[in-house]
Amino acid sequence: MKILLLSCCAPCSCAVIERMVREGRDFTVAFYNPNIVPYGEYEKRKEENKRLCDKYHVSFIELEYDNEYWRQAVKGYEEEPERGKRCDICFYIRLKRVMKYAQENGFDVVSSVLGVSRYKDLSQVNRAAEKASQECGIPYFMVEGRKGGMQDRRQQLIKELNLYSQNYCGCHPRSE
Ligand code: SF4
Repeated sequence: MKILLLSCCAPCSCAVIERMVREGRDFTVAFYNPNIVPYGEYEKRKEENKRLCDKYHVSFIELEYDNEYWRQAVKGYEEEPERGKRCDICFYIRLKRVMKYAQENGFDVVSSVLGVSRYKDLSQVNRAAEKASQECGIPYFMVEGRKGGMQDRRQQLIKELNLYSQNYCGCHPRSE
């Protein structure tokens, strides 16, 4: 099974990548995050995710940074809180784009780490993935990124590898 794994950043994907390598999975990491602003922050997260993939000898691909398209897609929902309707759209369009790429490039399934962070509502990510999957006809393969010690391992790896960890999801800084 050839997997395309949508990753938002190195901290959310590190423990999942490590585990998938250990399990001998055939996978590639896809970086499709037109939601991240400013552009310098996007570049920083991309380079860090690439560094992580290089360490584990995992292929890494970057899809287009189309922030204008993303902003049009979430228009009218700018003031929604994190976990609100803007996130529904954001998850859906990113997953759908990656599923389209997967279909065109010989992958069997798509996975993601979009629900790994404790700030995320995992069921919201899964609902978006299901919708995109039904429309694209490519299965969504859920990977465990939270339970079974995965959160602890994630924190360890962030420290061990000195991974850059941002303090907001992507579209604007968190207010807390
Ligand atoms: S908070 Fe994160 S998931 Fe939600 S819309 Fe912004 S970038 Fe997307």
